[in-house]
Amino acid sequence: MSPTRSSDVLVLGGGIIGLVTAWRAAQRGFATAVVDPEPGGGAAQVAAGMLAAVTELHYGEQTLLGLNLASARRYPGFAAELTEVTGLDVGYRQCGTLAVALDADDRAHLRELHALQRESGLDSEWLSGRDCRRLEPMLAPGVRGGLRVDGDHQIDPRRLAKALVTACERAGVVFHRVWATGLAVAHGRAAGCVTEDGTLLPAGQVVLATGSLSGQLNGVPRDVLPPVRPVKGQVLRLSVPRRHAPFLSRTVRAMVRGSQVYLVPREDGELVVGATSEEQGWDTTVTAGGVYELLRDAHELVPGITELPLTETRAGLRPGSPDNAPLLGPTELDGLLLATGHYRNGVLLTPVTGDALAHALATGELTEEARPFSPKRFALTEQPV
Ligand SMILES: Cc1cc2nc3c(=O)[nH]c(=O)nc-3n(C[C@H](O)[C@H](O)[C@H](O)COP(=O)(O)OP(=O)(O)OC[C@H]3O[C@@H](n4cnc5c(N)ncnc54)[C@H](O)[C@@H]3O)c2cc1C
Repeated sequence: MSPTRSSDVLVLGGGIIGLVTAWRAAQRGFATAVVDPEPGGGAAQVAAGMLAAVTELHYGEQTLLGLNLASARRYPGFAAELTEVTGLDVGYRQCGTLAVALDADDRAHLRELHALQRESGLDSEWLSGRDCRRLEPMLAPGVRGGLRVDGDHQIDPRRLAKALVTACERAGVVFHRVWATGLAVAHGRAAGCVTEDGTLLPAGQVVLATGSLSGQLNGVPRDVLPPVRPVKGQVLRLSVPRRHAPFLSRTVRAMVRGSQVYLVPREDGELVVGATSEEQGWDTTVTAGGVYELLRDAHELVPGITELPLTETRAGLRPGSPDNAPLLGPTELDGLLLATGHYRNGVLLTPVTGDALAHALATGELTEEARPFSPKRFALTEQPV
């Protein structure tokens, strides 16, 4: 094992969460390195990029809502800062979202969501089917009503990932383009990692941000390993020819026969249609059934999509946690922090995660808004009775 130069902070995993952590750490003056064979890859290459704090609200997730909203509020400044630092456009689009219902059951479900949103003090307006179609004329004539949420926006996650890699490089972050095979532990604290070629990368603090693989790293004590699992999502990309523009002016989503379907229109004419939600381990096969269901449901919502060229089909893995919320900050092992488990909101939560982790690396404490997401919440509930 040949040791290399030590970093103050070593981030394992260069998906958007690892990258934002590394960028913010480097900005605070930490000598920072990232280990990932393909930084900027990961789930962001598949994700739709909805910043959907309000339309993604679920019963029992009100604590997560606070963090989601805190991150959504940061987005305008965050996107502008990234563009200023890198010269790259990240596709941040303040377009709003329309969640619609196609039948009586969907309508009842959406009414409940509306009540929950209002109880939570969120901005969301109930519209008749006719008003929904006035806003988005490509919607199916059968739409029964919907919720207009002007505060749920979007970003292009591929552009975001690319900009974060560039921002890290500009801030002096060192990239090790290899797999980490194990955590190095010395004198009872995390001390770096070992890579696939046997190199030891020593570090003062280590951040585990390996997405859906976060529960798999050798050398992490069992009681510290995050309870993160992969949740597969298949996504389609279509392209809206100029003659069809504007096809949709905002994100449109619906619950069709109990499954979520959404259409996210980008400014450059790309239309993202997603997403399945499947517990299939680390399998990322695109299946005929997945593509069929997405097209069938999207077609029910916006019949005109069948005219559009289908340009890409892809599957990715959401890092799911037992309570659908991320695990952020210090663990029971000194020197090891987590930034993982962001599940279906990782793009939305990127800005707030960067700030929370940088603060934790500098002070050993989480920011107040991130405190409920300490990994220690699982350690406490899993004590033997
Ligand atoms: C279909 C789909 C749709 C989505 N839509 C949205 C959305 O609309 N809005 C939203 O907010 N979120 C969305 N998400 C969720 C979001 O994409 C994820 O939460 C987020 O990208 C997770 O980022 P991450 O960096 O934690 O993990 P990942 O993106 O999985 O990155 C982990 C990185 O770690 C690296 N790695 C793993 N193991 C090792 C190792 N041993 N050594 C070195 N490197 C390693 C990998 O190469 C990878 O680059 C979606 C996800 C999917 C799959």
